[in-house]
Amino acid sequence: MTRMGLSVVVPCYNEEDGVQELHRRVSGVCHRCVGDNYELVLVNDGSSDATWKIMRELSETDKHIIAVNLSRNHGHQLALSAGLQMARGERIFIIDADLQDPPELLPKMMERMDDGCDVVFGQRIKREGETAFKKASAYAFYRLLNRMVDINIPQDTGDFRLMSRRALDVLNSMPEHHRFIRGMVSWIGMRQEAVPYERAARFAGETKYPLSKMIRFAIDAITGFSVRPLRIASVFGFYFGIATLILMVYVLTQYFLGQTVEGWTSLAVIILALGSVQLFVAGIIGEYLGRLYIESKGRPLFVIQDIACSNELFHKNSDSNSKVSES
Ligand code: UDP
Ligand code: MG
Repeated sequence: MTRMGLSVVVPCYNEEDGVQELHRRVSGVCHRCVGDNYELVLVNDGSSDATWKIMRELSETDKHIIAVNLSRNHGHQLALSAGLQMARGERIFIIDADLQDPPELLPKMMERMDDGCDVVFGQRIKREGETAFKKASAYAFYRLLNRMVDINIPQDTGDFRLMSRRALDVLNSMPEHHRFIRGMVSWIGMRQEAVPYERAARFAGETKYPLSKMIRFAIDAITGFSVRPLRIASVFGFYFGIATLILMVYVLTQYFLGQTVEGWTSLAVIILALGSVQLFVAGIIGEYLGRLYIESKGRPLFVIQDIACSNELFHKNSDSNSKVSES
């Protein structure tokens, strides 16, 4: 089987107002780059609006579209993983549905890949239409992350990137549930380069990343790539040990001086401080333990409910693929 030249993978969650425009712009760029030799994998991540209906209709008229419907909302990173598992192209272009990242950057990325890169990622030099809080938190997050993790995750990048087949095969072979895909791609290594661009405002709809999701995402990123937080226990232990020694000297002096009646305040402070440190450290250990527990169940990452594609070749190929895996 000859491989598809290019796969475009787009996770979509409640993007009913943007999907058609996305389809129009991405199709135009793909045509210019590879002619007819591309597929567009649209993943509906359990949207509660008409996103799936629109995708299905688009797939009826455009043979390039493979519309994938997940069984429920699995979250951005898992929806993207589902699309990446489906992609059959030699090169894989990842883009968000909201057109904040310009698909027109593809030709430039393709050129860099022609030069031998395995991953070409977009790096934001400017972000439009996002709140000052979002920009500031993203800025702080990427800098904190790089201090915490042991690999080099490029600053100010999203999942907007072009990947080679061999890089994607490595990514697809990583089984973890708590996925921070841009970090996992950095972990792969090979030649990875940045293309700078200005991030636009959303074409339609609003962000699907409220603060709570952003915090979970940040925790996934840090715990997924670093065990440094676990070492906080030893650091606290060390400093509190020193403080305890000093306190003991003080307490004993007070005892020998016969001034041991007062001291309720200091006692209360010590108990409170130690108690909160212990809870904090137990929380960190719990965070890792929880992840271990989830991974140990070995459940699939996502569940696909329907696939819509009007290209007969797609169905033939997937039949023969399943026969191969059955035999
Ligand atoms: N998304 C998704 N599932 C979710 C949340 C988001 O598939 O649970 C998709 C969303 O439709 C978009 C991409 O992930 O294509 C990035 O989301 P968004 O634009 O809301 O994030 P932001 O750009 O604000 O960080
Ligand atoms: Mg966005």
